[in-house]
Formats: sequence, structure tokens, C-alpha cells
Amino acid sequence: MNERYSRQILFKEIGKAGQEKLLNSRVLLVGCGALGASHAEMLARAGVGKLRIVDRDFVEYTNLQRQTLFKEADAERRLPKAAAAKMRISEINSEIDVEAIITNVNNSNIETLIDGCDLVLDGTDNFQVRYLVNDACVKNSKTWIYGAAVSSYGTTMTVLPDRTPCLRCIFEEMPDAGSSPTCDTAGVIMPIVSSVSAIQVTEAIKLLVGNGDALHRSLIQIDVWQNDWRKIRLDKPNPGCVACGQKIYEFLDAESQEFSAVLCGRNAVQIAPPKPADLDLEIFAQQLSRSGEVKQNEYLVRFQTGEYEITVFRDARAIISGTDDISVARSLYARFVGS
Ligand SMILES: [Zn+2]
Repeated sequence: MNERYSRQILFKEIGKAGQEKLLNSRVLLVGCGALGASHAEMLARAGVGKLRIVDRDFVEYTNLQRQTLFKEADAERRLPKAAAAKMRISEINSEIDVEAIITNVNNSNIETLIDGCDLVLDGTDNFQVRYLVNDACVKNSKTWIYGAAVSSYGTTMTVLPDRTPCLRCIFEEMPDAGSSPTCDTAGVIMPIVSSVSAIQVTEAIKLLVGNGDALHRSLIQIDVWQNDWRKIRLDKPNPGCVACGQKIYEFLDAESQEFSAVLCGRNAVQIAPPKPADLDLEIFAQQLSRSGEVKQNEYLVRFQTGEYEITVFRDARAIISGTDDISVARSLYARFVGS
């Protein structure tokens, strides 16, 4: 084993045996924004051998204040976050095998995504995906580590299905849209992101090296500005819980996934076709160039029309910026991408 990990091996709870386990582990990172980018960097530096990073978005300048994995050039090129993360990690630790998956996590792909992974880290920014991850992980007995950060406040909890409470044991119903502050409405400072992601990654490493006794077994809530640190001890799962108690997976078994969604606080709408396509971006960019200014990279095409900017990914998913009106976004999608 190379000297890269020597200081971590000296830490007796990890040691040589633990380091071997880390190198042979695979972790799924759901989301590669502030929390996810931080997870990715810490896990790659720690030598977790395989990272599967899934994210739907591209890098923007507003991300750079807290998303340490990304650079100005990534925002300039509008690189998808998963692809930018893969590139950066190859510079940090070339031994790590990174699968970059640029897609929207939904109930048709979540179980495939978690398959083969030792555990799942939550770096998403929305409850819909978190409840879906909870369903999939509870159903497949997969450990996942919930985390959220907004403003100066953050929270985290480790879910060991059937052994500790799941997300729905604690928060029975998903909060109503618009009822919770988001990073786009209440802002966020990097120290809370670092604090929450540090606790999540520490829990992940404990699990991967087989030191489950060291888990914090709590719902942790931190406000780094108000100097408030709370630890609510978690006991057994709630037998009446819809997900882990009754084994009803409402989010996983939902009839149809939303075709379109307003991206909260972004003044943007995402439109995702029911079946992902495989667009030839070159040809697509040429077609669009007749109607306006087009920019492209190997992952996406960007098109400006009036006050709107349309970003189309290879799977025909689009993010339409400049509106939070789904019908406006749908009509633009129909006009420039096709039904
Ligand atoms: Zn539960």
C-alpha cells in the first residue's frame, strides 16, 4: 500500500486492514452539490476505491463559494457536476474509480443506482429524492446517511434499515413544497456544509471499516452561527412507520414520476422525457444554430432564445432557465427539443 494513506493507517481504528476495506468499497453519492462534492473529495482522499456519483445539474458560478471540487473553468464551460467531479478527483487521487452519472434520480433508476454499493450518502437538495432514497434503501436493506444544510443550519442521521429509525420514522410526511427554506432562498455558508459532510463521511468510514459500534446513533442538528449543537438519541425503528414498519414504499412505487419540476429558487424548470433518449449533440446543436446562439460541450448543448436559456443533456433532459412557469418551459421544450 502506498504511503499516501500512512497517516490514516496510523489511526488505529482504521489501520492497514481498514484501509484495505476502504480501497475495496463502493459508495453511491446521490447529488454532487455542496454536500456531495465535499463527500466526493473526502472519500477520494481517504481511498474509498469506487465512487458512483449521480447528479443532474451543471456547475454555475453561484456554486463556487461552497462547492470545493469545482473551478471557475467548470462554471464557464457549464460542465455537468458529476463529470467535473470525476475530472477533479482523477487529479486528486488517480487510484479512485469514479462513475459519473448525469441524470435525474427517480423511481425507475434508484434501485439500479444503489445496487452493488456498500452504502449511500445523501447530498441531494430536495426531499422528493431523499424520501425515494429512503424507500429504496429500506427495501434493499442498504445503509444510507441523510444530510442537509441550509443557511447556517444542518442536520444528519445514519439509517441502518430495520435496526435504527428511517427517515419516515422521524419525519413521517414530506414537507410541503415551499414550506422549508432552501439554499436559494435562505442562502448557505460553507462551514455548515463542511460540518455536516464531515459527520456523514466519518459515519461512512466507520461503517466501511467495520466499526459500526462507533456510529453516533443520533439525529444531529447543528447551527454553527447560533452555536447550537443538539444530539437526539435514536432508539428502535417506529413499528407503525409506513416505510420500514409496514414495508409500503410510496415513493418508490409511485405511478409516474414527474415529467417536469420547478428547480426551487433557481428560476428554472427541469423537463425530463419519460424515456431517456441518446441525442447526437453535434447534430442537435447544428439544428438549433439556425434559431439562435448555441454553445456546447461533450455533455450538453446550451441555447439562448430571448430571455430564456435552454440547456439540453444527452438524455434529452432539459433545464430551462428564465422562468419558473412549467407551461412556459414545456412549450419551449416542445418548440426546440421536441414533444
Ligand atoms: Zn421507518
